[in-house]
Amino acid sequence: MTDCLFCRISAGDIPADVVARSDRALAFRDIQPQAPVHVLVIPVEHFDDVPAVAEADPALGAELLALAAQVARQEGVSASGHRLVANTGLEGGQSVGHAHIHVLGGRPLGWPPG
Ligand code: AMP
Repeated sequence: MTDCLFCRISAGDIPADVVARSDRALAFRDIQPQAPVHVLVIPVEHFDDVPAVAEADPALGAELLALAAQVARQEGVSASGHRLVANTGLEGGQSVGHAHIHVLGGRPLGWPPG
């Protein structure tokens, strides 16, 4: 069995609060939300990070962005504004080694993020 947390979520082995799906991507609520809306968009297939998706399979990268846009609309933060974040690697603050895009919104989000 894989020890990748998000592979196990996409396989249904670990429960998640799924809010949307597309052919090859899944969106579920972050377990430690940093904003009123905090959803993670992941490819079902394993990639280490978002740049790896973009380089190996640009159509899948576009699918992740399209699903993030759908989630923002569903969650009511499309018009008000929201943030898409793809933490990448150690210094980028990535803690789970499976590509994911955070969709954050529902409050004013400061910049820089800290
Ligand atoms: P990052 O730090 O950018 O790699 O983001 C990983 C995110 O995954 C964090 O915001 C965690 O709160 C979130 N996370 C970790 N485990 C789970 C889980 N089982 N279900 C949902 N979100 C999770």
